This record gives sequence, C-alpha cells and structure tokens, in this order.
Amino acid sequence: MDFQLSDEQLQLKKMVREFAEREIAPNVMKWDEASEFPMATVKELGKLGLLGVIFPAEYGGSGMGYIEYVTAIEELSRVDGSVGIIVAAHTSLGSNHIFIAGTEEQKRKYIPRLATGEFIGAWGLTEPGSGSDAGGARCSAVRRGKNWVLNGTKTFITNGHYADVAVVIAVTDKTAHTHGLSAFVVEKGTRGFRAGKKENKLGLRASDTSELIFEDCEIPAENLLGKEGDGFIDAMRVLDGGRISIAALGLGMAQGALEAATRYAKQRRQFGQPISEFQAIQFKLADMATQVEAARLLVYQAAWLADQKNVRFTRESSMAKLFASEVAVRVANECVQVHGGYGFIKDYPAEKFYRDAKLCTIGEGTSEIQRLVIARQLLGKK
Ligand SMILES: Cc1cc2nc3c(=O)[nH]c(=O)nc-3n(C[C@H](O)[C@H](O)[C@H](O)COP(=O)(O)OP(=O)(O)OC[C@H]3O[C@@H](n4cnc5c(N)ncnc54)[C@H](O)[C@@H]3O)c2cc1C
Repeated sequence: MDFQLSDEQLQLKKMVREFAEREIAPNVMKWDEASEFPMATVKELGKLGLLGVIFPAEYGGSGMGYIEYVTAIEELSRVDGSVGIIVAAHTSLGSNHIFIAGTEEQKRKYIPRLATGEFIGAWGLTEPGSGSDAGGARCSAVRRGKNWVLNGTKTFITNGHYADVAVVIAVTDKTAHTHGLSAFVVEKGTRGFRAGKKENKLGLRASDTSELIFEDCEIPAENLLGKEGDGFIDAMRVLDGGRISIAALGLGMAQGALEAATRYAKQRRQFGQPISEFQAIQFKLADMATQVEAARLLVYQAAWLADQKNVRFTRESSMAKLFASEVAVRVANECVQVHGGYGFIKDYPAEKFYRDAKLCTIGEGTSEIQRLVIARQLLGKK
C-alpha cells in the first residue's frame, strides 16, 4: 500500500496550486460578490488540460485518472469552491455521461471540445418537483419522426447559462418509472432550449446555477445518449464518479479553511499572546486537521477504486462524499470560530468557506441520500 502521490501527481498538484494562487486567489471575493462566472479562468483551465483530466488522450483528454482529478479539484477548491464546482460539473457530470454512455461518434464529437474547454458542459437531472427522488422526473422526450421533442424544466443546473452542451435526463416512457428515463445531448442554440432563472445563492456564487427550459425543443434522434430507457441507470453511474468530485470539493475547502484558521491563530494576539497558545484553539486545530486527513483518505481511496477497471465503487464514493462534505461544514464552522468577529466579516476567507461548504452536503445527493445509498449497499439491496 502506497499513500504517496507519484512524482507526476505531485507535479500536477504543484501546478494547479500555483495556478490557483496566482490566477484565482486575487479575484475570489470580486467574483463572489458580483456572482461573476470566471469564464477566462475556466478557458485557461481548459488549455492546461484540467477540464478533461479523466479522459484518454485519444479523445483530447489528459489521459490521467481520478487520483489526478481529485488532486486538481482539491487544489482549486482550496482557493475557490466556485471554480471547483464548475470544473466538477463540467467534467464528471456533463462530459463523463457522454464518455461512459455515448457512441464512438458522440464521444469523438463532444469530448475533445469539452476536454479542452472549447465547450462548457452541464448535466440536468434535477427538476423543481424531483430532487432526491430523481426517478420522479417529469421533463419529457417524445419521438416525432426522426427527432425527439423535449418539454419541461430542469432546475439548479451548474453551468446552465454558460453550457455549450447539456446532458438532460427526460421521460421517454411514463409507465416504466426509472426504466422509462433516457438521456439526451442538447446543444446551446437549439430552438426551444434556453437557460432560465439564474439562482442567487448563499455560496459558490461565482458558479452558475440555473434552470434549463425546454419548450417543444426538437433534437435529432442521434442525440439520444445511451440506450433508450437506460438514462437513470447511466445517471447513477455518472453520480458514482460525480460524488467523488463533490467529496474532493469539500476536502479542498476544508483544507483551505484549516490553513486559514491556523494562519490566523498564529497572528491574532489576545491576553498578550497569540491565540494559538491557548489549548482551546490548539484542540480545535488538531480536530480540524484530523478530520481533514480522514476525509482525504476516503476521497483518495474512492478515487483509486474509480481508477481500477470493473470495480464498483458506489459505496466508497458515497462514503467519501458524505464524510468529506460534513467535515467541510464542521471545519469551515470552526474556522469562523477561530477568527472570532473577524470570521464574520468579508475581509477574511473564513465566512466564504462557511457559506460555500454547505453545498457539499446537498448537491449530487444530500447527506441523507448518501446514508440511504451506503445502507442499501451494506444490506445488499438493489
Ligand atoms: C448549487 C447547486 C448546484 C447544483 N447542481 C446540479 C447540477 O448540475 N445538476 C443537477 O441535476 N442538479 C444539481 N443540483 C441539485 C441537487 O442535486 C439537489 O438540490 C439535491 O439532489 C437535493 O434535491 P432537492 O433540492 O430537490 O431537495 P429534496 O429532495 O426536496 O430534499 C429536501 C430534504 O429532504 C430530505 N430527503 C428527501 N428524500 C429523503 C429520503 N428518502 N429520506 C430521507 N431524507 C430525504 C433531503 O435529504 C433534504 O434534507 C444542484 C443544487 C445546488 C444547490
């Protein structure tokens, strides 16, 4: 067993860290306050190969795996969770659904453009009436001659307004429940397809979260992704990988919050000494660091499993997501506490970690749903 990243992986980590410190850190609060999508930075990430880490070089990807992918997401999110979630939704949701369920032609058409950042991807599963109960989707796709006609609304879709390509799950057979859902690729500019309401959020404000609206949106039959009726099953496979990236998002933010708290504790003086001299503060930092390290082990274990061929990692991915998300929330909370009143104001990074971290316990399945998934695996239920 080897707990060390390889030299190449360490090099990637260093490269992403330097990029994040140089290009992202100075803009974090400006983007956050203006809810500004960092398009130029996202395009730069594409040039660096960070929008296609998990895809083979033959499809324009970086030809690496989930270990490298979580390393990149962790480093980006350590500085800005918004950038982390943009890359995560683009890569392991939108692009990866095309990669794992698409025909060779669909992969050749979309993955190289997505992996290089020429296209931005999104993934639409959630609807106003179906979140945790994703199988209860209403958005419909009806066959009309050689085309499919989509009607309905997806909600809370990351990158919604900026996506050039969206993968959308819609009902193709109302009588078949989850076996009646299918996935489709829809390109920006298709008549009848538009992004709707842009959400005004608590955190991750530089990421875009929007509705996708389909009104008699006609797409060619070849835009069906995977087999008709397999949309839900494929979506669950996509989420196995996606949850690892939300776990890495949480891990990165927890690491950032731990570092911010440690730094501040050494600078801030009360009662004539740095507050880091108080055992109460030392114990907080020690607990935070231990939780971050435990989360890291689960995240990297799940990523390692995802890199093995033909191994199921549903349970480990849910465990990593559940634990790392909750650690992110706890560590961000303690980071604010260590900062005292300064944790509550926007001159310090603590309050942003606190706001941003919360999404991790909600997106790609809430903590409650992760517990259901893990229990189902433990009890041998389907
Ligand atoms: C910033 C952001 C980005 C997102 N990005 C995307 C995206 O790119 N694509 C996408 O498709 N979706 C996206 N989502 C949607 C996200 O996945 C859903 O919000 C999430 O799955 C929860 O669904 P819901 O909001 O409808 O909550 P609900 O399902 O209504 O849940 C409400 C509460 O009830 C609990 N609950 C529900 N069912 C059960 C149960 N069976 N047992 C116990 N408790 C239960 C939940 O845990 C939660 O506490 C995003 C959401 C946000 C906020």
